[in-house]
Amino acid sequence: MKSEATEDPPRRRWVAVGEWSLWQRPRHWVYFTLSTEAVTVGLTVAAFFIFPIAGDDVGLFAFLAALGLVHTEATRKIERMRRTLNVTPHINMTSVWMLPAALLLPPPLVALLAVVLYTHLGMRSWGNLEHVAVHKTVTNASTMILSCYATAFAATFFLTGPITATLDVKAISLAVIAGVIVHFLVALIITIIALYLAEPDQATPERLFGSYDDNALELTTLCLGGLMILVLMHQPVLSMLMFLPMFVLQRSMLAKQLEEMASKDMKTGLLNAVTWHNRGEREISRADRSAGEFSVLMIDLDYFKKINDTYGHLAGDDMLISLAELLKRETRSHDLVGRFGGEEFVVLLAGASEREALAAADRIRELIVELVVETRTNEGTPVTITDRTASIGVASYPTAGESLDEVLAAADAAVYVAKESGRNRVVGAANRKALVATAG
Ligand code: GH3
Ligand code: MG
Ligand code: MG
Repeated sequence: MKSEATEDPPRRRWVAVGEWSLWQRPRHWVYFTLSTEAVTVGLTVAAFFIFPIAGDDVGLFAFLAALGLVHTEATRKIERMRRTLNVTPHINMTSVWMLPAALLLPPPLVALLAVVLYTHLGMRSWGNLEHVAVHKTVTNASTMILSCYATAFAATFFLTGPITATLDVKAISLAVIAGVIVHFLVALIITIIALYLAEPDQATPERLFGSYDDNALELTTLCLGGLMILVLMHQPVLSMLMFLPMFVLQRSMLAKQLEEMASKDMKTGLLNAVTWHNRGEREISRADRSAGEFSVLMIDLDYFKKINDTYGHLAGDDMLISLAELLKRETRSHDLVGRFGGEEFVVLLAGASEREALAAADRIRELIVELVVETRTNEGTPVTITDRTASIGVASYPTAGESLDEVLAAADAAVYVAKESGRNRVVGAANRKALVATAG
């Protein structure tokens, strides 16, 4: 939409306030985000007049800022790649420095540290990434500051005063644990609300809460931050030991992201052909061990090309994405749903006989007819795609073939029969002539 999408700007350029991409986001999201930012600024200004800043505080602030900046520089390339690949809420690892700040520094310095670290991240690690608008960096920093304030409040409440080296170590440890939990929960709640308001109709628990891995990483970073507090209070020089674990953790997250990407079809998020095939082979072994069975559905949209020709490729893509969501929704978590390229999808129903699979396929066929896809043409005109149909071939192991490829070939041949005999049908490989369902 923006002109710089097609250019390749070496640097972010200044954009007039009225043109900020922030204003293109949903209105409720904008209200919520600006409110949290206003609260952050308000609390920080108030805290500036309430909490005195001692010389030691400034020293600790400078030390944490230096650690944070060195860490961001050392992991800049990994972070940039993670952020480029990331599609879900992104977790950066600043909490390892921010959590100690929250518990050991007065609030204005906590806010300043967040501003320093996020400005640096925004410019060095995320700069010029198309999907990381400046307002997102500001929002992330504000969420971080608010979580830190809540953490400090909880810990102080716990200890009935600020953390000092003279306190009992046990009391400090309990306050640190409380701090970790509060920080995690407050950041999660703010993020969930923001994600919901950004796309209310796309809100699924997975999208809102993030993946198990995202949350585990966030909690891990906070745990390291918790340990940092004790290190900083007793042996600050040992904080250098944090760099290597952080580096390796970040790199292993990138490796996991790459592995996941390599197993999925980018457009729909379904399994790609190679991964589907590998997992399918495992189903063969499982079925052989237990004298069991499974069935394969091959689903091919009818006259899909017409959608592209009439409304453009983007609308076609949205149709494919909607079908993928339908297939995920209508199958169990241990079934294998894959995209074999183009508009051809494959579903492996674990443990299902051909008869059961035919019933499932017919239900899917009916749901495809009922599917309503709200999309846009390439020019941006809204269009609604309805009344689309699909032809589905069903074949089972071991009746239709002795290997996965043979079963797939049988399902493919059944799709061909379904197309030849009028489309919008389900055809079983066992008796290709017996059409299970026909269009009304
Ligand atoms: P049939 O009923 O015989 O299956 O007709 P069809 O038009 O669905 O099938 P055909 O194989 O002739 O055309 C498939 C079209 O799918 C052609 C191609 O442009 C389109 N296509 C393949 N991959 C994608 C994609 O990722 N996005 C979009 N929008 N279109 C795609
Ligand atoms: Mg087709
Ligand atoms: Mg096709």
